[in-house]
Amino acid sequence: MEVCQNEAQIETAIKEQKAEALVLTDDGMHLTAFWTRLLCGCGTDGRFDPIYVMENIIPLFDKSFNYEIVDVKDWKKSEFLQAYYNPETNKIVIRSDVYERALAGIALDVIIIAHEVVHCIQSIALRLLNAMQCVEFKTALCGTDSSEMRQHELQTDKITALVLSPNRLIEGKTDEEILQKYFISPLIQLIFGFIKQAGKSLIETLNDTNYFTQKEEETKTA
Ligand SMILES: [Zn+2]
Repeated sequence: MEVCQNEAQIETAIKEQKAEALVLTDDGMHLTAFWTRLLCGCGTDGRFDPIYVMENIIPLFDKSFNYEIVDVKDWKKSEFLQAYYNPETNKIVIRSDVYERALAGIALDVIIIAHEVVHCIQSIALRLLNAMQCVEFKTALCGTDSSEMRQHELQTDKITALVLSPNRLIEGKTDEEILQKYFISPLIQLIFGFIKQAGKSLIETLNDTNYFTQKEEETKTA
């Protein structure tokens, strides 16, 4: 992963400086990797094939996503940056030689593309959490230092590693523990967040309509 990290840092410096990053706790990373694996393994017998995911799975979830394979001779970035994800345009751009070697199964190139796909999946998760206003769920999953881009890059590498070798997600755990960690706990956090958000909105609405103060005045006049 070291080569990948090096490239990733360049990539961060030029591409992701202004984008909000989802910086996760360890549990958040495991959860992201587990669900990525689960949702993206269909069609490839449970294997995580980043090119298949990029071309067939992500477009199912995210209509604004696109990708581009750029010919080596037209590549305008540094030679160390062989692929990148631009969160502002929601696009993965890959140099054609990397894409072709990854298609042929060369591990390093598969990892480079997997890293970008994991960036994109984190961006989808971030947009989803923001759209659903799941503040509680997001807070539970995320670390506090969300401005640290380097941390975000290391995190992307960690999730990529987990997605590519998923035994680490479940090893040493019973079925019951897997169920608890990846399904029940996050679902409860999510539902709790929804209920709390709905409660807050209701209280705000009641405050706006002076529901409580009116009652008070009615009691006083009675
Ligand atoms: Zn990166």
